[in-house]
Amino acid sequence: MPAGAKRERAAQSRDGAASPKRRTRAGRPVVAIVGRANVGKSTLVNRFVGRREAIEHPEPGVTRDARGYDVAWDGLAFTVVDTGGWEPRARGISAKVVAQAERAAQAADVIVFVVDTTTGPTADDLAVAKTLRLAAVPVIVAANKVDGARGEAEIFAFERLGLGPALPVSALHGRASGDLLDVIAAHVRDVETTEASEGEPEIGVAIAGRPNVGKSSLFNRLAGADRAIVDPTPGTTRDAVDEVVVAGGTRFRFVDTAGIRRKVRNASGPEYYALVRSLRAVDEADVVIIVIDASEGPTEQDQKIAQRVAESGRAALVVLNKWDLVDEESRPVLERDLKDKLRFVSWAPVLRTSALTGRGVDRILPAVRSVREAWDKRVTTGQLNAWLGEVADRIPLGGRGTKPSKLRYATMARTRPPEVVLFTTGPVSDQAIRALERRLRERFGFEGTPVRMVVRQKAKRAGAPRR
Ligand code: GDP
Repeated sequence: MPAGAKRERAAQSRDGAASPKRRTRAGRPVVAIVGRANVGKSTLVNRFVGRREAIEHPEPGVTRDARGYDVAWDGLAFTVVDTGGWEPRARGISAKVVAQAERAAQAADVIVFVVDTTTGPTADDLAVAKTLRLAAVPVIVAANKVDGARGEAEIFAFERLGLGPALPVSALHGRASGDLLDVIAAHVRDVETTEASEGEPEIGVAIAGRPNVGKSSLFNRLAGADRAIVDPTPGTTRDAVDEVVVAGGTRFRFVDTAGIRRKVRNASGPEYYALVRSLRAVDEADVVIIVIDASEGPTEQDQKIAQRVAESGRAALVVLNKWDLVDEESRPVLERDLKDKLRFVSWAPVLRTSALTGRGVDRILPAVRSVREAWDKRVTTGQLNAWLGEVADRIPLGGRGTKPSKLRYATMARTRPPEVVLFTTGPVSDQAIRALERRLRERFGFEGTPVRMVVRQKAKRAGAPRR
């Protein structure tokens, strides 16, 4: 990722400022659990840790001292700090309550603010929310004790806290604690990637397409001596050669250029072997350039390639090569065929080139860089839920029987490619998912990358939904 995008990501925290580094001594990100006494913080922490180690006691104010627990989830390691309960006061708001929230905001990378659905937002909660709204780190509101359908309705009351939608959980029954961990993990990953090592990463590129569409001619243009340094290195498959092209400060590693440069001549179907080889390169790449012979238009074979690329989860762009051979009259037909046959990669930008004259070839590498960024782009939970708030009412989700499903919360669970998890109260129709994806793309871009939309319905019975 270029430094610019990294800066942009760092600036996506609550107040728009990059958050200072906060780490435990072991170098793990810190997740602080804050909330009034008796809202169920310790029970929740126990769920995370997976053993009954955190002190649990039904009396308020028992867990006085903050304690840290190491949690591993989804390939990430972080420390969860139970900040302990707040002393309840008969009258007025405890200064301690606010002071503790302030401390958490200073010491943590991510804050989980646990509130109690059975009581609704209290004066203490509102005072804490006021402090947390100023925090430079993400705050997740976890509405605990949602133990039945009734609790579902109550969680909307927490919108008053001004910290975005609350995520319903039941620490006691373990319900949705996996979901909460997913959301925490997404934020932790934000911290990790923001702090990722300096330097421009290499972009792995595969050139895929039928034989004779102009792959090797295009590659020779891209690796032309006047504009790039070419540095051949052994690839991962036998006799494969990767070549690195440096252009505009970015290293593009072209996967298995041996397969592109040397024609695989074989009596028993050269076309087939060449194709298999170019598709194998797809899985080793970040970005796939799908080359199509524009003078022939997309064929069935091209369609299969597009489908295969879409399934691979790689970023992609479509290059209509041999554009010099396309006359005016055939363009409308070509456009129509393209929409139909390449619908699997409808999100991919389309470039028109001529490897013969060199026209349009200069636009390929900048486009590769741009789709690679989209593939790796993370939208914060805050931005995602703000967007959800705008579109949720306008898209009927479908549902079970006469009961329409509702969207509760969304988070980006992973990137490369982006995966958005939608937490809902019931099933969502395919049509609604497509509409949501369309809106998501309109708002956040993602041109050139597939976006996976995952629907997670609330668990009907007790027990943490785990993957
Ligand atoms: P590959 O098998 O996909 O690597 O295709 P090649 O690069 O070997 O090209 C196949 C044939 O198409 C060669 O004769 C090229 O000269 C020709 N060719 C490649 N690109 C273009 C182009 O943009 N325009 C025209 N007119 N011919 C091209």
